[in-house]
Formats: sequence, C-alpha cells, structure tokens
Amino acid sequence: MKDQLLINKAIEAMDLAYAPYSKFRVGAALLVKSGKIYTGCNIENAAYPATCCAERVAIFSAIASGEKEFIELAVVADSPEPITPCGICRQVMGEFFEKETIIHMANMKSNKMSLTLQELLPFSFNSKQLNK
Ligand SMILES: [Zn+2]
Repeated sequence: MKDQLLINKAIEAMDLAYAPYSKFRVGAALLVKSGKIYTGCNIENAAYPATCCAERVAIFSAIASGEKEFIELAVVADSPEPITPCGICRQVMGEFFEKETIIHMANMKSNKMSLTLQELLPFSFNSKQLNK
C-alpha cells in the first residue's frame, strides 16, 4: 500500500479524536493482511491515565475483530515533527507486530518518516522473557 493512503486514513481518524484536555488530536490507521484498514483516534478522560492513544485504539479494534496479521500502521498529528508512538504503544505493537512491520509517522505539514518496529523498540521486553 502507498504510505500516503494510509496516512490519509489516519488524518480522517484524527478528526474523530476526543481530546478536550490536551487539544492534541492524533489519528492512526492500521492495514491488516486482508486489506482492511482499522482506524483509531486518541480518546482522553478526565482521569488522565484512562486515556488511550490512537495507535492502541486502532490495534485493539483490529484484534477485537479477529485480525492477527498486521502489515503497516500510520500515525498522524498536527505536531512540529512527525509524531512518534509513545512507549506504551510501542510495547503493544511489540506484542502483535513483526519486528519488520513498518510504522509511518507524519504531521500535517507533510513531513513523514517510516521505521520498522525493531527500529522503534529495540531490546523490547516480550513473551520469550517470561520463559523460566
Ligand atoms: Zn501511545
């Protein structure tokens, strides 16, 4: 898939963000193997820790729909530089994505960069470390 198409889907999702506290709207779009695209936006809460990032909303939506194979993800915000996923989202990506899965990061000024999950989260904690 052309990364710009996925970024455009993330921009559409960004419009749905519920961000009354930070006013920082984020959108994400996740392409799965079947060709379907799952989107997410950040959803804040008055109790701030209950907030969920756009990337996790998209990933959890796909998981809840039975998806198991993920191709690439785009995340977008109106930020000075292309927005990068937070540590919690990177950890969630590590649970479900391959190390080679591409994450496209963009802003509204058409700045973008693409990295693999391995580049975003080297030396990650994973299920192999739970083996005794
Ligand atoms: Zn996050």
